[in-house]
Amino acid sequence: MGISHQDLAAAFQERGYQLWLVGGALRDRLLGIDSHDQDYATDADPGAVEALVRGLGATVTTVGKRFGTIGVRIQGHWSEITTFRGDSYAGGTRWPDVTFGASIEEDLARRDFTVNAFAEDAYTHRFLDLYGGQQDLAKRVIRAVGDPAARFREDPLRILRGIRFASQLDFGVEPATLAGMQQTVDLLPALSQERVTGELDKLLCGANPARGLEILRESGALGFVLPELASMVGCEQNRFHQLDVWGHSVATVRAIAVTPETVRLRRWAAVLHDVGKPAVRHVKANGEWGFYRHETAGAEIAAAMLDRLRLGRAESHAIVLLIRRHMDRPEPGDRRSVRRFMAKVPGHWRDLLALKRADNASHTYDDTEYHDRLEAACLRAEAEEQEALRAESPLTGDDLVRIFDREPGPWIRVIKDRLSALVLDGDLAPGDREGAERIARRMMNRPAP
Ligand code: ATP
Ligand code: MG
Repeated sequence: MGISHQDLAAAFQERGYQLWLVGGALRDRLLGIDSHDQDYATDADPGAVEALVRGLGATVTTVGKRFGTIGVRIQGHWSEITTFRGDSYAGGTRWPDVTFGASIEEDLARRDFTVNAFAEDAYTHRFLDLYGGQQDLAKRVIRAVGDPAARFREDPLRILRGIRFASQLDFGVEPATLAGMQQTVDLLPALSQERVTGELDKLLCGANPARGLEILRESGALGFVLPELASMVGCEQNRFHQLDVWGHSVATVRAIAVTPETVRLRRWAAVLHDVGKPAVRHVKANGEWGFYRHETAGAEIAAAMLDRLRLGRAESHAIVLLIRRHMDRPEPGDRRSVRRFMAKVPGHWRDLLALKRADNASHTYDDTEYHDRLEAACLRAEAEEQEALRAESPLTGDDLVRIFDREPGPWIRVIKDRLSALVLDGDLAPGDREGAERIARRMMNRPAP
């Protein structure tokens, strides 16, 4: 059965240790959001924490022990118990150094944002809000704890964390905190790609990714973490567009329909779908800007970019495919044209259609009617395909043996193949046994008696 949070609190209390609930769980609870993370801070050192939770018979992990963290399984979820932090992070290094602090106050001072710097005593439930976090939750802003630029210099990942929280929570960034970001974004290249990509991914999957992307631009972080996108800013388009390439891309991210299963793929595809435009922009004969074959150039740029970001092979492949095909415009009335459209993005025609619809959201013309017809045509083609897979000869081998009173042999396959082909072509209804028998008799030169 395992241990409960109450067991844990009581055990720490009994041994004279402090135990504070900290971090995202309190923030999310105050926002009324479900949160699985129940992270704790304590004055006990990691060795003492490990001994204590093992003594309770809990399932334990020590992978984070050298960073001061013991993981413990509580009511089906992993919780982390971390010894108070007291150090400053060594600026610009890949992983923060760790030293331990003496008090919960010192620990909270090391946390990144006011809305992440609450603590609640696990035993007495005393609540600490030393930096005005509740006020900032009410104002819906991300504000650094302490001097913003100094805190971002200690650990530049906090810049991206702040912007990611703005997207996830649909918050703004408080002006002094934004200014601190602007002063320190040049430190971002010192971070490991893995940590950067993790934050970008969470930003794009957040509740308001358009807001996150705009803050990424305003802070200046965009040019350091996604330079390919920075060149879309101010890239003017033509009379088909209301916005520059950047504004249009952000609008596409905002507009694209998603589910929890598709959010990652579709939002990355949306933000990158026109990444080829700045590179191919040219003046057309009529004097307007043209972007001929930007989808091909974009697919190549995105492939290199996603490789650098190490987003994951399958996901990257699908994103690149969607970018390459986003200008395809099959004729909904033409079955072959529709089938070719679907065959070019195996398993992803719904994602491509969602991208095309979202792409149209900030065009100066409305293509909804066309997309509705295309969707209907794809659904029809998909249904036909599934039916074709089910297309079977209405007569089984046993039926044929009985009808012709003849030994089983290769002749059965010949007739069954022919009957299935007729069903597939729509020339014989599935399950039409009488019709099938007539055809089989003709093939065997044995008319019905
Ligand atoms: P979520 O888990 O939903 O992404 P979280 O707030 O729990 O959000 P974690 O990365 O799990 O974020 O970190 C837990 C807590 O640790 C944060 O709430 C914050 O107080 C602190 N923290 C995490 N990373 C940093 C950092 N780089 N600098 C300062 N404090 C941090
Ligand atoms: Mg967390």
